[in-house]
Amino acid sequence: MNYYLVAPAKTFHQTDNLLTYESEEKLAIGQIVEIPLGKKSCIGIVADKTAQPEFETKAILRTIYDEPLPKQLMKALFWLAEYYRCPLSSVVQAILPRGITKKRRNAANPLMSNKLDKTPENPLNAAQQAAIAQIEANPANTVLLHGITGSGKTNIYIELTKHTLAKGQSVIVLVPEIALTSQIVRNFQQHFQDIIIQHSAQTEAVRHQIWQKCLQSDQPQVVIGPRSALFAPVKNLGLIIIDEAHEPAYQQDQNPKYSALRLAAKMSKTILGTATPLIADYYICKQHNAVIELNELAIQNDKTASIKLIDLKDRGNFARSRMLSNQLIKSIQESLQNHTQSLIFHNRRGSAPLTVCDQCGWQSLCESCFLPLVLHADEFKMRCHTCGRTYPVPTSCPKCHNASIHHKGFGTKAIEDELHRLFPHANIARFDADTDAAQTLDKVYDDVRAGNYDIVVGTQMIAKGFDFPKLTTLGVVQADSQLSLPDFSSEERSYQLITQVIGRAKRGHQNSQIIIQSYQPENPIIQHAVQNNYADFYSYLLDKRHKSKLPPYTFLLKFSMTYKTESIAVANIRTLYKKITQYARKEQIQQLAITPPMPAFHERTGQGFTWQIILKAKSRADLLKIFDAVDKSPYLHFTLDPITLL
Ligand code: ADP
Ligand code: ZN
Ligand code: ZN
Repeated sequence: MNYYLVAPAKTFHQTDNLLTYESEEKLAIGQIVEIPLGKKSCIGIVADKTAQPEFETKAILRTIYDEPLPKQLMKALFWLAEYYRCPLSSVVQAILPRGITKKRRNAANPLMSNKLDKTPENPLNAAQQAAIAQIEANPANTVLLHGITGSGKTNIYIELTKHTLAKGQSVIVLVPEIALTSQIVRNFQQHFQDIIIQHSAQTEAVRHQIWQKCLQSDQPQVVIGPRSALFAPVKNLGLIIIDEAHEPAYQQDQNPKYSALRLAAKMSKTILGTATPLIADYYICKQHNAVIELNELAIQNDKTASIKLIDLKDRGNFARSRMLSNQLIKSIQESLQNHTQSLIFHNRRGSAPLTVCDQCGWQSLCESCFLPLVLHADEFKMRCHTCGRTYPVPTSCPKCHNASIHHKGFGTKAIEDELHRLFPHANIARFDADTDAAQTLDKVYDDVRAGNYDIVVGTQMIAKGFDFPKLTTLGVVQADSQLSLPDFSSEERSYQLITQVIGRAKRGHQNSQIIIQSYQPENPIIQHAVQNNYADFYSYLLDKRHKSKLPPYTFLLKFSMTYKTESIAVANIRTLYKKITQYARKEQIQQLAITPPMPAFHERTGQGFTWQIILKAKSRADLLKIFDAVDKSPYLHFTLDPITLL
């Protein structure tokens, strides 16, 4: 008899461990099996061979596939459970496709996307060739390709993919969201036969077939998809490419909670490509001498893009509209006359509180975190959502002493109405940042590209990866709207968004005017973004992170508790706080900061009241130690390495 440790796809009596089973047949590590569990059966992954245990064991019911999972996925299984402390069963569920036990009728090749007609190939330019040589010579496991928008990163990805395939190895390409119209998907289709494209519109049956084909193929594969494409069971994985690597879409915030960047690095050599790297990634890659800079446009052109920064506080700039400046209105008018396109960008999520002085631009910030304070009108207090400190609500400006403190915000719908009023004959389209709208944009993409809309209004979704050849006016209604979110990641998100939006106009089809409106035109983040100065942005923000002991200088662990009644939430989070502080003292854990309990940013939700505690530590191992010592309850939630503390 053979004995095996199996990782089950379900928890059993709250335990979430490997379970021991027997099998007459010899099994391979990584094989997918069906096992009895309680009165039912479930799927599991053979994790290891083991000796005959003291207790009686049940027999494995059957093996589902002869082919075991490839080794990078076995590594992922254990690493995710260990590093993020997420339930093993949740990892098994993430790795295996849904409905894996179902018999499927074999449809003819539902998954592979055929090669598109060839467009003329772009030979790599000297800068691209140099970047490829540097990437391939770099011994680091993760290499950051810091290339400006339009530098031709896709061409580099394609060349690296060719090299990897030639070595008989597979490639996984991650994209933040899979729009079939996106450049990267189209370009890959032009170069490779039979690539595997994973996207959310595929049915369970199609996904299962794709997966099975991948598992059973001996050929090296190219897979393109969102973060879950990391779980494609390709053999001989040689390279993972992560495009737009700064995007929050690479973070999974439900179990198993993980960062696709960190996971990828555990699985294979990884390339992170972006014009606006997260400063933590830049910092880490810099330390390993693994940053490759690409500062040249792939297509040199003689088109100009002029950038104007408009002060939203100067109401003289807003004679005809409360939201759109005279300069922006004039530029839209010119574009209408020339039958070219205008793109008006506004981040709807900027509805979060921003308290500013209309006279001098002063903004209410936490004195220890340097982050914007949020007005809690019910308590009549300003609160820092990162450290929990509260402040009185200012009635007059502490800087200029005028009584001109204001709370700001409006959304894209209001802007659309305003544009209709100002330009009654224009053809206007609006795209908001929800998934339905993403579908719509995919559908009308050709219309938008062709210039059939005079004015396009939208949130950040229109800023990403799309090319607008007829664009001549680009307006950013309030460039600092994201800055007002009271979170440590707000500034880099702002920088990324502004850079991306400007990138839309800098692709060089037409001469264009870029008009950026802001309450804080002198804010360093806005300034660096407008000047396209990543280096200064980086050192500015890194310094702030250092002063406030935030990543990359520390690791974070967030605990939160949600209860129907606020008093119970408060009482229980206080108990937890006490236990954690006592434990940390007893174990003499150094270089650790624990914030006192405080309400979450979205304190009151349908689930009840949420309070949280944030731990910052120099050593991640210390955070894991504390985590392991805490009593778990269904009311307690946690995130290791959170990308936001809201
Ligand atoms: P990025 O992703 O770095 O912003 P893209 O990969 O979208 O840039 O490339 C920008 C544009 O430059 C695309 O239209 C692409 O076809 C073109 N391009 C890239 N490399 C070359 C090259 N070597 N020669 C000519 N055109 C190129
Ligand atoms: Zn003031
Ligand atoms: Zn604070």
